[in-house]
Amino acid sequence: MSELEGLEFGKSDFVLLDEVTMEQFMENLKLRFEKGRIYTYIGEVVVSVNPYRQMDIYGKDTIDAYRGRELYENPPHLYAVSDAAYKAMKRRAKDSCIVISGESGAGKTEASKYIMQYIAAITNPCQRAEVESVKNVLLKSNCVLEAFGNAKTNRNDNSSRFGKYMDINFNFNGDPTGGHINNYLLEKVRGGGQDDREDSTPEQTGNLHRSKKLYLLRGGSPEILESLHLQNDPAVYAYTKEGATSNNDRSSHKAVMSALEVIGFSKEEVYSIYQIIASILLLGNIQFESDGESVQILGLEAVNHISELTATDPESICKSLLYRTVATGGGEVIEKGHTEQDACFGRDAFAKALYERLFGWIVARINSVIEVKDYNPVLHGKNTVIGVLDIYGFEIFDNNSFEQFCINYCNEKLQQLFIELILRQEQDEYERESITWQHIEYFNNQIIVDLVEQPHKGIISILDEACLTVGKVTDMVCLDSMDTKLAQHPHYTSRKLSPSDKTMDFKKHFRIRHYAGDVTYSVEGFLDKNKDLLFQDFKRLMYNSANPVLKEMWPDGQLSITEVTKRPLTAATLFKNSIVALVDKLSCKEPYYVRCIKPNEGKSPVLFDDARCQHQVAYLGLLENVRVRRAGFAYRQLYSRFLQRYKMTYEYTWPNHLMSSDREAVEAIITHHGFQDDVAYGNTKLFVRTPRSLFTLEQERAAL
Ligand code: ADP
Ligand code: MG
Repeated sequence: MSELEGLEFGKSDFVLLDEVTMEQFMENLKLRFEKGRIYTYIGEVVVSVNPYRQMDIYGKDTIDAYRGRELYENPPHLYAVSDAAYKAMKRRAKDSCIVISGESGAGKTEASKYIMQYIAAITNPCQRAEVESVKNVLLKSNCVLEAFGNAKTNRNDNSSRFGKYMDINFNFNGDPTGGHINNYLLEKVRGGGQDDREDSTPEQTGNLHRSKKLYLLRGGSPEILESLHLQNDPAVYAYTKEGATSNNDRSSHKAVMSALEVIGFSKEEVYSIYQIIASILLLGNIQFESDGESVQILGLEAVNHISELTATDPESICKSLLYRTVATGGGEVIEKGHTEQDACFGRDAFAKALYERLFGWIVARINSVIEVKDYNPVLHGKNTVIGVLDIYGFEIFDNNSFEQFCINYCNEKLQQLFIELILRQEQDEYERESITWQHIEYFNNQIIVDLVEQPHKGIISILDEACLTVGKVTDMVCLDSMDTKLAQHPHYTSRKLSPSDKTMDFKKHFRIRHYAGDVTYSVEGFLDKNKDLLFQDFKRLMYNSANPVLKEMWPDGQLSITEVTKRPLTAATLFKNSIVALVDKLSCKEPYYVRCIKPNEGKSPVLFDDARCQHQVAYLGLLENVRVRRAGFAYRQLYSRFLQRYKMTYEYTWPNHLMSSDREAVEAIITHHGFQDDVAYGNTKLFVRTPRSLFTLEQERAAL
């Protein structure tokens, strides 16, 4: 709890609310936002509201004020948690992590940048050149990932990548020595490509096909664009025509190019990146035509350009677009012509895969530069880590699909970890302070995690089974199977059980009761998205490229059709595996949390949209967070600090006490006010169960 702000700015810690109700929470959040206090604590969790304006709270003075200080010594700030994470790492040799979540546009990436800048500012006091260069590359890598991971749209810088995790390694001096990046990509792609429904939300249509990769190229010189066979107009390209254009394309382009150079990408590599992006755009403009018998390509010029850009021959491209190689039961290999629909599907899947592989390659390339080399623990001491996770929070739109299902599952996993770690942290502290363990009531969401991920029984298993079944299994067949198998589950609602429920489309929905609330998902497209099918022909095409960079991205292209595994892992299973690995990584670290909220849809610095904010507070589980935090002891403070703050409320402790210890003096104050049943005395800290006692003290203090 911060003690430097007056009450006119609202309560700097939500645990101090009179009552934990949505109303009070929102009132406090709004008041603070309006007063320009964008950060508020829940214990050690920072709740942040995007100010949409430049705040004068990130400068060197502020950094100095927070450096080495404790959380409660300053107003709430990202710097305070960054410092806490850094101290845990440096003083106690503990790995720590900072988990930043919130919806798109809520300020996660900005927060992660400030955190990294803070860490960069407080480390390497002697300015050693090699450390400075590591710091520089770490900071620049952010810029590159943002450029390639983000899709700009009119409403926000929507992102197709929904999560990024970065480990920063430190040596025994507490100076950065390197890092590692993990990306969690979830392309928002539709099976049919161009048949986007009218009713989908902008968030949902923020897919690769609309994303603004072109802006990377737009900033390039006319000569470069010409050599890439591109026109400087996003409206020309099917994959970009509905996106926004930006006036600062040129400066973004410059920043990204210089970042790539600093990181160590060669000129050839950068040009290969250009070529791949250009190929994706050109690919999107290829159309097909069917005369009832066979399918033809419309736009052979584009094929020729792609052939040049990818260093592959045009006939092979045409063949991959129109046919797929299949192995028959008898081991025979035949070429099977696509229908027009198959061809469109293949083209879009190929474009998407090109982009994914490119992105994966860029990340791997950055990792190879920043990975810690030649670290000798005997020589250098323990190598500690601070992880920074920038990840989408719980998502609920009018239409929820496979992507929301995955993201929300991920948030269930993170909530599970959060509960476990927070409870463990509490328990550890009680032990350290020799306080008897207090039982904390909370909702354990393991049951929902199981609903999704349990082998053989969970939703992912049922989906996978449907995807691997040979024959015509549709989304609806899969939904039937889920409805039958999960009908009894307390957190699953099948459409059969509630036909009268108007919020559920009787035809194609299922509902999950998540820890943060109910979400109704449309099963449409689940199977295609889960299969995430890319014909082997495209992989081979790319593997056979004469461009070494491109070839390197497609090692699986060397397999022939008979060698290809018949049961590739599905998108949901791959996703689950990556989230399980992520949670494993986080669970051995000391966690800090930043919860970001977007105050309005219009990027306005003055508008606090109550309904939108309340929605986010609910889906970030913030009330539950306050409850868990208050269930044990809402407030804890070192005896000396407590005295400093409240000694004036009792004549025998003001201006100084004559007792044998600070603890005794604190006991005297507490007893004087009659709060003895509301507290516990630890070895070094006072623990207060309800915030009410504290209010009384605060009020008395203010009245003096
Ligand atoms: P997210 O990563 O959650 O999608 P960003 O961090 O990219 O969101 O923030 C979106 C935009 O909001 C930024 O481009 C910036 O204009 C603004 N913004 C976010 N956080 C801050 C902040 N702390 N101060 C000023 N502007 C901010
Ligand atoms: Mg972001």
